Amino acid sequence: MLVLVVNCGSSSIKYQVREVAPAGEEPEAYTSSMPAINENVNLARATAGVESGEVITQGLIENIGTSEVQNHTQALEILARRLEEELGGRTIDAAGHRVVHGGERFSAPVLVNNEIIRAIERLAPLAPLHNPAHALGLRAIQKTWPGMPQVCVFDTAFHRTMPEKAWRYAIPDDWYEMHGMRRYGFHGTSHDYVTGKACEFLGIPREQFNAVVAHLGNGASATAIRQGRSYDTSMGYTPLAGLVMGTRSGDLDPSVVTAMLERNPGMSANDLNRVLNNESGLRGICGDSDMRAVEQRAENGHERAQRALEMAAYRLAKYIGGYHVAVGGAQALIFTAGIGEHSPMFRAMVCDQLGALGIDLDPALNEHPQGDVARISSENSAIEVLVVSTDEERAIAEATAALVWERVKN
Ligand code: ADP
Repeated sequence: MLVLVVNCGSSSIKYQVREVAPAGEEPEAYTSSMPAINENVNLARATAGVESGEVITQGLIENIGTSEVQNHTQALEILARRLEEELGGRTIDAAGHRVVHGGERFSAPVLVNNEIIRAIERLAPLAPLHNPAHALGLRAIQKTWPGMPQVCVFDTAFHRTMPEKAWRYAIPDDWYEMHGMRRYGFHGTSHDYVTGKACEFLGIPREQFNAVVAHLGNGASATAIRQGRSYDTSMGYTPLAGLVMGTRSGDLDPSVVTAMLERNPGMSANDLNRVLNNESGLRGICGDSDMRAVEQRAENGHERAQRALEMAAYRLAKYIGGYHVAVGGAQALIFTAGIGEHSPMFRAMVCDQLGALGIDLDPALNEHPQGDVARISSENSAIEVLVVSTDEERAIAEATAALVWERVKN
């Protein structure tokens, strides 16, 4: 099956086409009247028996909303023409969407129908930059390829298993009841995927697996994995909370926000949003948001860059310590995403602070992790430290194919 994986933003669409093969025989046909499902299953279970192969093609359509590409429908027409040329006569069988916010409703991938698209739109107040764009993309694909099955995979879904004590904020109940103010958590597809890979590698049944996952990209989050499921996570109501990120502040005293508003009468909520999301984090501390640049400058003796690294590593180490307690003792610490997979220096800075947990890195293994899942801890380490390559597109492609085939079988 050829699956088109799309990430529809407001001004661009990122896409990848992947071949996904079934374990058994390929079912014959799909009809769009089949019901959508929404059960709480992790990706490994949802995609058992499905294997994603090569990436056939990938790319980006930009400037949506300009005279160049007026809207999402036009963007999809451009994409359809591109794919016709690139796929040599083959056609797309299904589309899998990365959807940022599934609110409290979605705890697993779902097959799309009109009601699902409306539900994603209704969640727009929680993700105003993302969910409306996802809905536009879903409708544009319906128009371009009528009847083709579509699946949504939600960034928040994996975290629906968090206990209430972890997802509640200590604020008046009304704020939760009326405005949905609670921890949702993000990067769920990645946390779920690398958890599955780590279990396979260590030979531990998923339901017996306790771990801490550090997804460290431009955005970064840590997740406490208890019995194979998300038990707590560092991002919150939005992806601004938690770790020190490329341009986001992560945790801070909410009074900083109210005090800045009081002291700067001209400052709006929008201004504050911009500063905390785009001008803080590593960038706010030292001027650079890209970890490679920060490391380079720290190596050259730049004091602010060194401070940025230390703050980011210290914040993460504190989360790992807390989550070790939350999961009742982690069996593994998993590093993933750009920084997690490619920065031995940052991993060492974090692990050096975790001696109290009995964590001990093997410097040579940390310098050159081998393969998609690599152990980088020494034999003396009380907790396995792994580097696992994340692949959200692959996870989305597999979940899409699995759901489409499951519906056909039933
Ligand atoms: P996104 O969240 O945008 O998907 P990525 O997962 O690609 O981001 O991670 C981007 C981050 O990874 C950047 O800060 C980048 O500097 C960092 N990174 C990538 N390669 C390296 C490397 N070799 N050493 C240090 N940092 C790296």
